[in-house]
Amino acid sequence: MFNLVKGTHDIILEDADKYSFVEQTLIQVAEFFGYQEFRTPIIESSDLFQRSVGDSSDIVRKEMYTFLDKGNRSISLRPELTAGIVRSIVNNKLLALGDTPVKAYYVGPCFRYERPQAGRYRQFNQFGIECVGVSSPYRDVEVISLGYFGLKMLGFKNLKLKINTLGDNESRANYKEVLRNYFKDHLDELCSDCHDRYSLNVMRILDCKNPNDQAIIKNAPKISDYLSEKSKKYFDDVLESLTNLGIEYEIDESLVRGLDYYSDVVFEFHYTSSKGLNYGALAAGGHYNKLVEEIGGPRDVEGVGFAAGIERLVSVMNDDSLFADLSFSLDCYVMPLDLQFEKNAIEVATRLRLNGFKTDLSLENKSIKAMLKKALRKNAHFALIIGQDEINSNSIIVKNLKKEEQVSIKLDDLIEYLDNQIDENEHSHHHSEE
Ligand code: AMP
Repeated sequence: MFNLVKGTHDIILEDADKYSFVEQTLIQVAEFFGYQEFRTPIIESSDLFQRSVGDSSDIVRKEMYTFLDKGNRSISLRPELTAGIVRSIVNNKLLALGDTPVKAYYVGPCFRYERPQAGRYRQFNQFGIECVGVSSPYRDVEVISLGYFGLKMLGFKNLKLKINTLGDNESRANYKEVLRNYFKDHLDELCSDCHDRYSLNVMRILDCKNPNDQAIIKNAPKISDYLSEKSKKYFDDVLESLTNLGIEYEIDESLVRGLDYYSDVVFEFHYTSSKGLNYGALAAGGHYNKLVEEIGGPRDVEGVGFAAGIERLVSVMNDDSLFADLSFSLDCYVMPLDLQFEKNAIEVATRLRLNGFKTDLSLENKSIKAMLKKALRKNAHFALIIGQDEINSNSIIVKNLKKEEQVSIKLDDLIEYLDNQIDENEHSHHHSEE
């Protein structure tokens, strides 16, 4: 027996259906907003993440899966996808095509060596978007709205949007100076992680969850008092536009995000499940004004994006029964009354599938009662029964499980019969699309 690697999990059976449902819903919303899919490699050179996510971030310092390949190159499994997407945009010179902003969405696994706990895995999946080549507050709002709409489409109500600004580089430099002065006098009282943060990136201290540190953080100077005119106006424009769209938000000045590339607007979507559980941010993102340049792209090209954790979404949706309406249904369930009709059953089932009917079949030599039960459990519309009489007469019994009526149909007429029975829109699967 082999155990799962710590912090990883299998996504199988109905669970996998749920993951696909969540991903497909978010993909549809992204496409609705004019985004296109990007698939970038799971491995990238380690410097990419050191430069972008940042040497001072917890992710790069402690959580990356980094190794030397056989050619002695330092490679890392991606801890997030923004860096890879921006690298791809730069490498492929998409910004030079003049067709900006470049609007990318992605779905895929990320890897972080974190302490496994509720809502935290070492391999987890993210869906996200990046809108690159923009420096307008309204683009930030557009991206936030996409996240909001995506989560709404999944069934979330009472979402909490937390938002903050990290200011532009000038505001941030001033603010950091002030913060360093403030925390200098409290260094003995802060946790050891915050000692590291103090020298690496003092703003990270604001994010510390240690209750002791929280008390000190509460009285720390606020970024809002150190914003440049430009940053302040930018943030106000974002907030005003959110209000116009009816998207409620809460300004959270301790929201600094754990990645180095953010500037100006940052945000997170939170949700507390009916069980009172909060798994941390469901989705998080922000604006970045230096990342493109740092990755070797043109200067002064900015971007904005967010990522949502699929694991967390599925957990919360399970807790709050948001998958309840999701029926994993079948059009047809084929039931041979005896295993000697296996060939006929498989051929009928395959023919149905080739004609666009989502079909499964029983090959377990069970009683008809047991098979019917299974058909109902699989939420099948029709049970198709094959016995000796049906073989003799080239026909099949079609039992409509929704109407509880049954008829015997000639095999040659089966497809046409089912087509007439099932309303086009009712097909579990897309029937031949004209
Ligand atoms: P980040 O890239 O850190 O901004 O995270 C974006 C989103 O990814 C978070 O809001 C979570 O939903 C999800 N996420 C981050 N880390 C993990 C993890 N270790 N396990 C599961 N989901 C995660």
